[in-house]
Amino acid sequence: MYEAIKKLAKRCLPKQLLLKNELFLRKFLAMRYKGDAFACNICGSKLSGFLPLANGELLCPACGSLPRNRRLWHLLQEEKLLKGSVLDFSPSRCLARKMRSQKGIRYLSSDFVGEFEAEKSHDITAIAEPDASFDLVVCYHVLEHVPADRQAMAELCRVLKPGGKAIVQTPFKDGDIYEDASITSPEDRLRHFGQADHVRVYAADGLAGRLRNAGFSVEIRRFQEDAYHGMKENEIVLIASK
Ligand SMILES: [Zn+2]
Repeated sequence: MYEAIKKLAKRCLPKQLLLKNELFLRKFLAMRYKGDAFACNICGSKLSGFLPLANGELLCPACGSLPRNRRLWHLLQEEKLLKGSVLDFSPSRCLARKMRSQKGIRYLSSDFVGEFEAEKSHDITAIAEPDASFDLVVCYHVLEHVPADRQAMAELCRVLKPGGKAIVQTPFKDGDIYEDASITSPEDRLRHFGQADHVRVYAADGLAGRLRNAGFSVEIRRFQEDAYHGMKENEIVLIASK
């Protein structure tokens, strides 16, 4: 239902108009989901439920956050990771809004392909920022799109200050990393890697190993379900420290 409405709105309204009115449209939608059984920790809405998407993800009707956005925000708050200079690659709109509203941090978002609203358009394999510029880098669902991922990880390490952290997530599978540079067509990538613009599927251990080779020490976190906040069972986040 929600996706049908979204598709219709996309077809009928120019993108700029949609973006400009996103919050208004969401407020309208959120009225139907008012309640106190669930809560979104990003926008603070109390909800009768989250909106289930076709892929099983639970969307906040009020701000559009996904389970991984809410988990990330919880982690950043809980461990006081949000400080100083922050570089965020391809952020979701709800989180970018939240980050920009925080006092006392310098927040810079970047998107290479122009799909997200961002201040910068950095190539993650050649980040146009000086060495040791950031206290925190958020790199969520980016590396699985990047052929030269080892170069990207080296760059993440370079732009972090000593003691800084990179919070990294991609889709994960069990076992080993699956990649094959000879698979290049969108159809084949969709079939092999789960999305037409993905170039591999990571395993958490494999990704942690590549991050370590790039100069990080890495902790693999596995989280439990938090149904009240619509966060998933067994979600994995890598915390990479320089
Ligand atoms: Zn929300």
